[in-house]
Amino acid sequence: MNREIQQIIRKALAKQQLTKDELVSLLACESSCASDLFAAAHQVRRQHVGDEVHLRGIIEFSNCCQRNCRYCGLRKGNHNLKRYRMSADEIYEAALTACQLGYRTVVLQSGEDSFYDADMIAGVVKRLKKLDLAVTLSCGERPYAEYLYWRQAGADRYLLKHETANELLYSQLHPDMTFSNRKRCLMDLRKLGYQVGSGCMVGLPGQTPAILAEDLLYLKELDVEMAGIGPFIPHPHTPLAGASQGNVEMTIKMIALTRLLLPQAHLPVTTALSTIDAQGREKALRSGANVIMPNVTPKDFRSLYEIYPNKDRPDDNQRDCRQSMVDFIHSLGRTVAQGQGHSPKPGFSCLQKRGETDEQYA
Ligand code: SF4
Repeated sequence: MNREIQQIIRKALAKQQLTKDELVSLLACESSCASDLFAAAHQVRRQHVGDEVHLRGIIEFSNCCQRNCRYCGLRKGNHNLKRYRMSADEIYEAALTACQLGYRTVVLQSGEDSFYDADMIAGVVKRLKKLDLAVTLSCGERPYAEYLYWRQAGADRYLLKHETANELLYSQLHPDMTFSNRKRCLMDLRKLGYQVGSGCMVGLPGQTPAILAEDLLYLKELDVEMAGIGPFIPHPHTPLAGASQGNVEMTIKMIALTRLLLPQAHLPVTTALSTIDAQGREKALRSGANVIMPNVTPKDFRSLYEIYPNKDRPDDNQRDCRQSMVDFIHSLGRTVAQGQGHSPKPGFSCLQKRGETDEQYA
């Protein structure tokens, strides 16, 4: 066993902090050492956020996007994709169905689509809050005033992945965006009291272990409440069509290291991970992850939200999908969280609604 690796893991357990070089050593370590890292993350997850797995229903309400990120199938330049926009009523109906199935959080996600102005999103948020749901928004970069307006409307959380914290790589991947504005958005969300989610892709062309270490340090600096980390999967109708996809073990290492650095964060298993590895969900849940985000978008739209191809779609029937997730979670000896699943950090946990049982919604 590599003693240096053991020492670094012990330091992470004691201090929840590592240097860039130490992170690189863990990211580059062999599989035999990685299993110790996964076991440590599993233990930290159990200690800080327990055995519960949170189920968040995700509604992908528009696949229209005005951006041109070079890796993404929703990019404006992809003319092979049929575009859709759900109306406010359709979003509400999808959330109501999710609520009736037992979800206590919905995530409203879209491309960057200015068709949905501040009033429209705020109106939807207000309606969903009356269903007693926690609401996460993921609608991309917007001005401070809009984030403020949505927070005042009742939005609890905002998910905005930083994708990569390396400025040069960021600029290469995002021709019409800047990392400084990404950071501005994330700081605005933090100031406004959102539970902030960010995250990155693993295996991007040009990415090195040192760059991945920068991602981890950035998540630590932001002190995020949620972090979504998934493998890069090339999409055939993007400039990166010919690139290689991200590596499963490296993705799990990134999740495990995030757990060591941010013990109280909610860490979802990304759909991208279960798309490239049938056991990806289980591996992530055994290495620090504690959230699954089943897709509750109406069936007619679901296949059109194609950031990457062959997206894992476990079950078309939402009731069956939820039940198979519940069964899967139980098979790992874990339980399904009953509340809205707010961050356990001080200032957020008091918002959490408790005392309901999953069976009430079965
Ligand atoms: S990553 Fe987001 S902003 Fe970029 S093209 Fe895709 S949906 Fe649009």
